[in-house]
Amino acid sequence: MSVATSGQNPQFTEDELEAIITTAREYGLPVAAHAHGIEGMKRAIRAGVNSIEHGTFIDDEAVNLMKQKGTVLVPTLTVAEWATEKAKEEGYFPEVVRKKAAEVGPVTKKALERAYKGGVKIVFGTDFSGDNNLGEFALMVKAGMKPMDTIVAATLSAAQLQRVDNKLGSIKAGKVADIVAVKGNPIEDISSMENMMFVMKNGKIYKNEK
Ligand SMILES: [Zn+2]
Repeated sequence: MSVATSGQNPQFTEDELEAIITTAREYGLPVAAHAHGIEGMKRAIRAGVNSIEHGTFIDDEAVNLMKQKGTVLVPTLTVAEWATEKAKEEGYFPEVVRKKAAEVGPVTKKALERAYKGGVKIVFGTDFSGDNNLGEFALMVKAGMKPMDTIVAATLSAAQLQRVDNKLGSIKAGKVADIVAVKGNPIEDISSMENMMFVMKNGKIYKNEK
C-alpha cells in the first residue's frame, strides 16, 4: 500500500534482522514479518522469524526454507481481496498503489496454495479490522485448503503461534471455555463459519440463537 512503484524490495539488512531476532529472543517474544517481496521474506525466514504474514511473492525455495526453520505462513487473504476489490474503484488508491492492489488478491491465493501444498504450517489471520474477518475461511478453502485445516489454523495453530495454547486453541479440560457453534456443517460448507449461532467467552454465554 506504500506510495512506491514496487513493494518488493527488501527493507531490512541481514544484520538488522539478526539484531531484531536476538533482542526479541532475549525478551522471550516471537517475531512476525509482514513480507511481500521474496528477498525480504527469505532474509526474515533465515534470520529466524516465527511467522511470515502475506507471503505474497513466495517461491519454492522460500517454502523449503520455511519447512526447515518451522516458520508458519499467515496468508491474510481477506486484506488482499479487499485491496483488489477497491482497486476497481476509480480514485480510491493513488494510481501507483492501484496497480499493485489490483494484482495482490489472486497472487496471494496462489501463494497460500503453493505453501500449503509444500507442507508449510498455515495460521489463520486477516491483517485487517474489517467486518468480514470470518470470510477468510471461505477464501482459504478456495485457495485449496481442506475445511478442517482452516479451522485448526484459526484455533490450535493460532494459539500455538501466539504461545497461548496452554489455555486457548482447543476444547480441553483446564483450558479457557471460549467456544463457538455455527449453523450447518463447516466441513461440508465452510461459509457456515460466517453464521455463528452460539458464542461462549470464558464460560459465559453471549449469544445463543436457535
Ligand atoms: Zn501486513
